Amino acid sequence: MKITAVGGYKAVGRNMTGVSIGEETIAIDNGIRLDTLQMYDREIEALKKWSLEDLVRMDVIPEIERLKGVTAQVISHGHLDHIGALPINKPRVPIISTHYTTEIGRRECQEGDFYSIDYNDEFEISKEISVELVEITHSIPYSSLVVLHTPEGDVVYASDFRFDNHSTIARPDYKRLRELGKGNVKVLIVESTRSQEKGKTPSEAIVREKLKDVMEFIDNGLIIATTFSTHIERIQSILTEAEKLDRTLLILGKSLLRNIELAQRFGLLDLPFNAKLLSTSKAITNSLKEIKNNRSDYFLLATGHQGEPDSVLSRLVDGTFPFKLHKGDSVLLCAGVIPTPINRATRYVLETKLRSFGVNIFDDIHVSGHAAREDHRYLLKLIKPDHIVPCHGSIDMRSAYAALAAEEGYEMNKKIHLLMNGDSIDL
Ligand SMILES: [Zn+2]
Repeated sequence: MKITAVGGYKAVGRNMTGVSIGEETIAIDNGIRLDTLQMYDREIEALKKWSLEDLVRMDVIPEIERLKGVTAQVISHGHLDHIGALPINKPRVPIISTHYTTEIGRRECQEGDFYSIDYNDEFEISKEISVELVEITHSIPYSSLVVLHTPEGDVVYASDFRFDNHSTIARPDYKRLRELGKGNVKVLIVESTRSQEKGKTPSEAIVREKLKDVMEFIDNGLIIATTFSTHIERIQSILTEAEKLDRTLLILGKSLLRNIELAQRFGLLDLPFNAKLLSTSKAITNSLKEIKNNRSDYFLLATGHQGEPDSVLSRLVDGTFPFKLHKGDSVLLCAGVIPTPINRATRYVLETKLRSFGVNIFDDIHVSGHAAREDHRYLLKLIKPDHIVPCHGSIDMRSAYAALAAEEGYEMNKKIHLLMNGDSIDL
């Protein structure tokens, strides 16, 4: 068996890993890294003007050419750093994922040959290899751990995940993970983003309490909340608390609207009756005119938590809309900073500009979607892999994971393998 690190093994983003057995290769994930693209272009649409070669050079997409004989593409979940390069790389093989993730895939890449499967179903890729998706909690609905059943044993790909026993939309399938642990897991390919963080990643239930606490505290002025447009459970929590405030709720930004529509189709989101969705600049501008003089009557949910230049929140602070934030307005940042230097910089710029208006900032109404050290230790105990390949992180993050695995008795270079983008290893 050969494992190839294609993307996500230098920094967080543009994830792809190859698993080859004989002449056959399965590609897992096909993600994009948007913050590096922002160094060149403000809008994601500008992707089209660059060649594949350029996008690989700019660290925007994984170099799929590294993999030979790809027979299937599996997608673990619908985050863009796992699915977003599909329309660029256009794999001409079956693309396998959960139903929800498949809908996101179809939206991004109309010409793909998609196969959607239920959790725990086995999809036969060939006579020798089948794929199974196992339910897990993360920060987008219908995330999965990918399991490849092969003649040499199972491959488990755990990127991304956390163990949240209080999620309102998902459950970690501990029973199935334990069963896998009783079999033969040859290798675990596992995210390492928060492997430097102690303890366990808190449940989403903590955010619900934080939101309640903050929203009860704010007595007047305009309130703007921002979060990940794909984080449906978080969006539901924000809207549920906002509904109690007796304010008009406006949801602004194309990506929020698209993801809310999808979640509603899957019965995952109850929109409050007084919520209005606005996508076009014209509709947003018209509403802002009304808000100007009645600030305390409105609650906005908007895109822009990372300070993305083309988001609604960035355009509000930049004066693109005919509207000025005031002293006494409040901004709720319901998202952590995606840990790359560019995101840290754009978020810093956003917060600095917000402060220049005298806005109250409520930061860190957030828990991560990624496993911390004790979550990782628990996964190792459940599935007992023979080999470990840390992925989804910088060398610091992956080294921290390696140190944790060493504490659990795995031997460096023999059982723990640190790869860089482009490396592969025979196991
Ligand atoms: Zn993710």
